[in-house]
Amino acid sequence: MPNEGGPIGAPGEEELIQALFRGRQALPEEVRLGIGDDAAVLAERVGGDWVAAVDSVIEGIHALPGSPPEAFGWKAVAVNVSDLAAMGATPRHALLAAALPRDMPRDRAEGLATGLHEALAEWDLALVGGDTDATPGPLTLSLTLLGRLESDDPVRRSGARPGDRVYVTGTLGDAAAGLTLLSEPPEQWLPAYDWLVERHRRPRPPLAFGRSLPGFASAGIDVSDGLAADLGRIAVASGVGIELDPQALPLSAPMGEWAWASGGQARRYALAGGEDFELAFTAPTGAFEALHRAQYATDTRCSAIGRVTPERPGEVFDPGGEILTGGYDHFPASPEDR
Ligand code: ADP
Ligand code: MG
Repeated sequence: MPNEGGPIGAPGEEELIQALFRGRQALPEEVRLGIGDDAAVLAERVGGDWVAAVDSVIEGIHALPGSPPEAFGWKAVAVNVSDLAAMGATPRHALLAAALPRDMPRDRAEGLATGLHEALAEWDLALVGGDTDATPGPLTLSLTLLGRLESDDPVRRSGARPGDRVYVTGTLGDAAAGLTLLSEPPEQWLPAYDWLVERHRRPRPPLAFGRSLPGFASAGIDVSDGLAADLGRIAVASGVGIELDPQALPLSAPMGEWAWASGGQARRYALAGGEDFELAFTAPTGAFEALHRAQYATDTRCSAIGRVTPERPGEVFDPGGEILTGGYDHFPASPEDR
């Protein structure tokens, strides 16, 4: 590790790109040109349609300032994998635009690249190019992902139909609880809290399960801003209502411990906390068996949490008719929410 602890760019931009991003993985054969030229060249393969998405992580927004750089690099990949998983697609290639603070210590930049490459390896992704700039602003990683759709149709937000059931993978609210624990550390730190913090720092979107969604799901979205907000997007796009049972929301055991020890509102967090990167989807009742098979095949927990209604299009509400809201918004309508 050259220049440990020293300033990030001291040996120059090219050396930095070389050290952090180039030649750290074996590239799949369709990558004819990766890092090193002005643009990457990808061979056309016979196969499904292309799927493309871009998402950024910004220090101070998606991670607390000064948090571990390895986790930050991981998260840049994970948030994008989550978007492709929600479409039922398989991510293949990544392009990274890195805005690095000029005064960032070199070992933090190395950590960033390490976590990034761990996540690329986890989901079998090839980094084929990018851009590296020094910035006067906060550390920002913008990742563009290209992937493939193996089925004929992507899973969209607009396909939910009255009578469909609503499901969610994994457990909810953990990442938001982890962030609260880091922002306001309690006097007594329980072992379970480490797991919640990990859920915030290193999300693991259920990609294998997501790839099976086209086989049974009528609509899908990843839970990034909060369940109520994200299901609201399905309700609006599909022109349906969603009746959600708050009692059915899946909570983890560490979440239970945290709520019990701190008086934290587990169900509120499950409904409105962001960044779980689980998948919420709707499926017709007849798809039950295909859904079960996918759960077993990918070892993914799924919970039935509600139903799609013809009434109240665009709304998410509980069985008592109470409207359910809440979720992270980068540009909130009312100033009190900022
Ligand atoms: P250009 O001046 O043409 O934009 P650069 O000097 O910025 O080229 O980049 C040189 C090579 O390194 C290019 O192939 C580019 O795709 C790659 N690259 C630059 N930054 C990154 C990064 N953060 N991650 C991956 N590849 C990168
Ligand atoms: Mg160029």
